[in-house]
Amino acid sequence: MSMGLPSFRAYVGLGGNLGDVPATFRDVLARLAAVPSTEVEGVSSLYRTKPVDATGPDFLNAVVAVRTSLGPLELLGVLQSIERAHNRERPYRNAPRTLDLDLLWFGGLELNRPELTVPHPRMHQRAFVLAPLAELVSKLPPDTANQGGNPVLPEASAIEAYSQTQGIERLNELKP
Ligand code: ADP
Ligand code: MG
Repeated sequence: MSMGLPSFRAYVGLGGNLGDVPATFRDVLARLAAVPSTEVEGVSSLYRTKPVDATGPDFLNAVVAVRTSLGPLELLGVLQSIERAHNRERPYRNAPRTLDLDLLWFGGLELNRPELTVPHPRMHQRAFVLAPLAELVSKLPPDTANQGGNPVLPEASAIEAYSQTQGIERLNELKP
């Protein structure tokens, strides 16, 4: 991380339901750690979820926090190149996928464009995003850089209730 450049904390949601998903997620962590001006600040546990509006095997999900001096669209470009490296195909909407990377939060920035909407518009309906995100937000020191604030999330008890309804199960730590 070069000195002096402003940096932002971003939260990235990872999902997948094809192939060796834990191995894919570990590879994502390694690739993110290798991105210039970017470091991995923390990782949630791995969660198993029933597919929502999707078909195929159960999904695995996790959330990663990075600190980066990249811009939001640059970071999205990095995420898309990592998806492509895992041969993500989009044969139809919500098809099973080896890897889905969503930019959930970028330093408090609010952006509403087709190519990038942050905070991610659907994260508040998805326990498979909220549960790992809440776990990670509570594990990390609050982000005090750039007055960006931190994601505002439902209370832990509400997330727990969603998780039960949506069949979300916390598995184990995702170690790089
Ligand atoms: P989903 O993640 O909703 O299942 P996709 O991954 O196929 O669907 O959607 C990717 C598209 O969504 C890309 O064209 C991307 O530019 C756009 N997009 C908009 N906002 C975001 C975001 N916050 N994170 C990731 N992709 C986003
Ligand atoms: Mg996506």
